[in-house]
Amino acid sequence: MRFPLKLTANLTRYIATNRIRGVKKFPLVMMLEPLHACNLTCTGCGRIREYKSTIDEMLSVEQCLAAMEECGAPVVSICGGEPMIYPEISRLVKEILAAGRHIYLCTNGMFIRKKLHEFRPSSSFFWNVHLDGLERTHDLCVERDGVFREAIEGIKAAKAAGFYVCSNTTIYKETDLSEIAELYAYLHELGVDGYMLSPAYNYAAVMTREIFMSLIEKYNLMISPIYREYLKGERELTCTAWGNPTYNPRGWKGPCYLMTDKHHDTFRGFIEDTPWEKYGRGNDPRCEDCMVHVGFEPSAVLGANSKLGDNWKLLSWQLSGKMGGAGRRSDADSGGNGHGGGQGNGRTTPWQAGDATPPGQLVAPDGSLRVL
Ligand code: SF4
Repeated sequence: MRFPLKLTANLTRYIATNRIRGVKKFPLVMMLEPLHACNLTCTGCGRIREYKSTIDEMLSVEQCLAAMEECGAPVVSICGGEPMIYPEISRLVKEILAAGRHIYLCTNGMFIRKKLHEFRPSSSFFWNVHLDGLERTHDLCVERDGVFREAIEGIKAAKAAGFYVCSNTTIYKETDLSEIAELYAYLHELGVDGYMLSPAYNYAAVMTREIFMSLIEKYNLMISPIYREYLKGERELTCTAWGNPTYNPRGWKGPCYLMTDKHHDTFRGFIEDTPWEKYGRGNDPRCEDCMVHVGFEPSAVLGANSKLGDNWKLLSWQLSGKMGGAGRRSDADSGGNGHGGGQGNGRTTPWQAGDATPPGQLVAPDGSLRVL
């Protein structure tokens, strides 16, 4: 399975219920930004710049939960800013899980080791660690040395404690895809369960490259085949930005995660007062080159511009995936995630103790990372 069974079942039930009720616009993933402050100043981050004047503001846990209830999305992606510096992050996670929602906790990974003891593994909870390349590249992107290594240590600790972990990578024009292939090979060995990957705002050309296709075949990429077809220019999709609404200390950000024309006090106001017909390609010049995940992956799942056979494609995509990296298969519904209690993949490395790191390999026999 590409995702935990419980997540797929809940999402399917939720979509079916809304369709039966005739709801036209309903969210799939709530992007919850409890704060915009961050311990890093990454080159490509819009948040610390857009929200500079309110960088000290924070939502209370109660505000987050009230917004989550109003919106109703079955999946909550906690992002920011850096959510791990939100003082009540573990309580927030606990309360959202208690409400039966699924969580992706998006983090730069710097505080996973420090705060891991505050969290419990669950089949509804993923650590989602942002990595834009191998050590040198990633540390350059985040403008600080040591971030990649700490994130990797965080991933190892989380896997050893039995958590689900996925990674999130933005592909820029300058990105060397063979480096991403190396990164994935390394994360796969660590037992990482899935890979989110999104082209930067106006850079979809990458998706047609052969090496990209080989990543899709080899690893548990969490990009639907329909969104992929769109990125490759093989089909049209209309933007469904309301499928991934963003809530932050200023309110519901409209129209989308990327653009801010207005903050709405309520989710209902966001849905009803946003002039949706004015956005998307051909309607707003700012949307012309946009192909981002938050605008178009919900379109794929919600069946906007659907074609015969799409449901089958989505089903076989879900069934063909495999979490757990190079190690044993995850058992998503065994209480925890079924792959705890060991480091990474639980497999014997081909190297013997004392061996030097083989050329071209990233991991030394003792599990440490080769300096790149
Ligand atoms: S096309 Fe992109 S920028 Fe425009 S509203 Fe949709 S997600 Fe936002």
